[in-house]
Amino acid sequence: MEKKPLELYIHIPFCIKKCGYCDFLSMPADEDTRRHYVNVLLQEIWQKSKALPDYEVISLFFGGGTPSILPGGQIAKIMETVGQTFSLIPNAEITIECNPGTLGRQKLLQYKNAGVNRLSIGLQSTHNKELQNLGRIHTYEEFLETYGLARKAGFENISIDLMSALPGQRVWDWIYTLERVLKLKPEHISAYSLIIEEGTPFFALYAEDERRRERGDMPVFLPDEESERRMYDMTVQMLAGKGYKRYEISNYAKPGRECRHNIGYWRRVPYLGLGLGSASLIGDVRFSNTAGLQDYLDGKYGNLESLLQGGLGGYPPSAITYLDKRQQMEEFMFLGLRMMEGISREAFRENFGIEIDGVYGAVIKELAQQGLLAQEFGRVFLTEDGISVSNYVMGQFLLEGT
Ligand code: SF4
Repeated sequence: MEKKPLELYIHIPFCIKKCGYCDFLSMPADEDTRRHYVNVLLQEIWQKSKALPDYEVISLFFGGGTPSILPGGQIAKIMETVGQTFSLIPNAEITIECNPGTLGRQKLLQYKNAGVNRLSIGLQSTHNKELQNLGRIHTYEEFLETYGLARKAGFENISIDLMSALPGQRVWDWIYTLERVLKLKPEHISAYSLIIEEGTPFFALYAEDERRRERGDMPVFLPDEESERRMYDMTVQMLAGKGYKRYEISNYAKPGRECRHNIGYWRRVPYLGLGLGSASLIGDVRFSNTAGLQDYLDGKYGNLESLLQGGLGGYPPSAITYLDKRQQMEEFMFLGLRMMEGISREAFRENFGIEIDGVYGAVIKELAQQGLLAQEFGRVFLTEDGISVSNYVMGQFLLEGT
């Protein structure tokens, strides 16, 4: 019997220290805690793999946190366990998120030998002052060293994460960051705008400034709206000029180097999250692991077999959502429209047994008239104007009350 595709996400929630803007589930922890965590993670992999014999893993993503905080041997052990428990396709994309300052030559070689074939390096900026302000643990020079070592270790698929609209950042600062990164010729670039998240130190510092900007007043620390717009335009132009295809709102890749794992996520390929707080989608069930570190270390990561048989499997009811057709359609639209290729009418029909126009015909027509959506070759996708107001566009696909 042909196996169904599955993506694996493994969360490593540890960082050397917390960055000022970060609201990810991440924290510093000592070596013993990290070792204990990896041991529990291995048990979780063994247990949950048993519930999914009909699936084969097409991609694996170590995210965080800072997965590269773990010694090479621990990543190798996790990989070995995944190999023993799941059926992994031969050319599976295996990515690990890394931060400069947490890995050297030896560790990179261990990752490579363990089967990791893609690195996603968090750089954010090439200006040390901006890095310091963000609370990053590394300098640009340390990043360059890591990048060079990764190439020497044989990594041929490297992504670099960048962040614009930083406090005090001018348009030419951002252009300089882009220029320097483009010279390195990474295969993939993720370029996000800083978001001031509640509960972070940056929220206390800059939330009022952000409100000023939203009101149309001049912000004190953050770039004003026009500068932010120019940074965004420069990103699109400069990356396209160097042969990077924008395939998602914030992601750019050389041909064939798009992140397969993320594309799978946006296409709603089933995925299993392992580790603290990680989310999963199997069939029509969405569920998440506990976000409490002590609970996780005590082995309270839920029983997938029991959950898939209709029980709670030790998950709190609030951590489980059985998606009805309406919610699945909404997700299909929200996630699919993030990609520049948008969604396929045929895929909608195959998934839901109904023509997309039977559900969203009026919305698509209205948004197309506003110039926010376009349609071509059986696909529906965001226009340039639609990308700028993507949250508004996605909001129109909510079906509640209709
Ligand atoms: S390295 Fe990443 S996950 Fe860790 S604190 Fe900084 S932004 Fe958050």
